[in-house]
Amino acid sequence: MNPHMMMNDKALGTKAVWAGERSFLAHGATQVPVVHSVSFGYDDVDEWYEVATGKKDGHIYGRNTNPTVQAFEEKVRELEFAEAATSFATGMAAISNSLLTVLKPGDRVVSIKDTYGGTNKIFSEFLPRLKIEVTLCETGDHEALEREITKGCTLVYLETPTNPTVKITDLERITSFAHEHNALVFVDNTFATPINQNPLLTGADLVVHSATKFLGGHADALGGVACGNKELVSAIYHYREINGATLDPMAAYLLLRGMKTLKLRVEKQQENAMKVARFLTEHDKVRAVYYPGLETHPHHEVAKRQMRGFGGMLSFALKGEMEAVRKFLPALTYANRAANLGAVETTVGPARTTSHVENTPEERAALGIPEGLVRYSAGIEDAVDLIEDLSQALDSIT
Ligand SMILES: *Cc1c(COP(=O)(O)O)cnc(C)c1O
Repeated sequence: MNPHMMMNDKALGTKAVWAGERSFLAHGATQVPVVHSVSFGYDDVDEWYEVATGKKDGHIYGRNTNPTVQAFEEKVRELEFAEAATSFATGMAAISNSLLTVLKPGDRVVSIKDTYGGTNKIFSEFLPRLKIEVTLCETGDHEALEREITKGCTLVYLETPTNPTVKITDLERITSFAHEHNALVFVDNTFATPINQNPLLTGADLVVHSATKFLGGHADALGGVACGNKELVSAIYHYREINGATLDPMAAYLLLRGMKTLKLRVEKQQENAMKVARFLTEHDKVRAVYYPGLETHPHHEVAKRQMRGFGGMLSFALKGEMEAVRKFLPALTYANRAANLGAVETTVGPARTTSHVENTPEERAALGIPEGLVRYSAGIEDAVDLIEDLSQALDSIT
């Protein structure tokens, strides 16, 4: 039996392995080929014209479409229960291209303070230049979001859980409120991954991902993707094909291969994150731990309701602030000290050098991000080793 026919809606592990690949296989190969060709040739000029004008399926030029890239888009599309998906060179390209497709001078965006640092920069630096007004609400303050939406806006832009303090926004509540007020809803689903939540199923108009993170999962390829209905995604695709932030076929292949283990990885990462969060909570050198899986997290109930798992990301503040962080981070054995997350290796870094490096200290303070906050992306190692490692590194702080 064709494995595609056995899939039900929740078969995310099966989709991660099988979805999107079958129609791109060639020569009996069981794996999607990396098609490096920049252009695609046609002997029949009429057929060429039909493909070029979109009347017939096929490829013309690599900036527009490519078979390997399309296989990647198809897999994410199925995982996100979307009608259509289009990809980008990076997550930031997915975000900026999607925003610039739908926004024009005079429009207004309502979002939260804790979006990814780069997204926050688009809101504070680039959109205002185009006479697009942006209002950023306290993350997790649903009443504030609703108040601002009521004043009128074109787009509500959400991210949940957020980077780096892992705050949660109730997607169902804000999406339906935004729609009652005729606003579009975009959601950055990078932290949750399609394994833990599918914002399109609660009505969002567009889901964006930095595929660089959990989707790829191996910290060896950059990429981004946007998923939604056909009309919106084809408008975004058109913006991207002209503006040129195209995903490279080799990166698409690496991301596609990485995604096969997405469910396994995310399950292990969040199991580890939970154990690490509980360990840190008990430790006397730790001032605060932020993880939505902890009952003490202010948005734990919302997270429990809308997510299938709490994710692999947490953050914590040490009592000794930056002085302690300077001693603690280099003492870790099982962690890359790097500006990345979602990889199979545990990855750590201060928020001020990772997610919010684009912001000034004053901006970070205004965003409620302590300078000494450590972001921890749990890998797939054995939890016992991660905890032992954290324990000895915390002991090294004097
Ligand atoms: C990393 C990240 C981005 C940006 O993705 P790039 O692939 O680095 O451009 C956007 N949103 C979130 C939540 C991220 O973590």
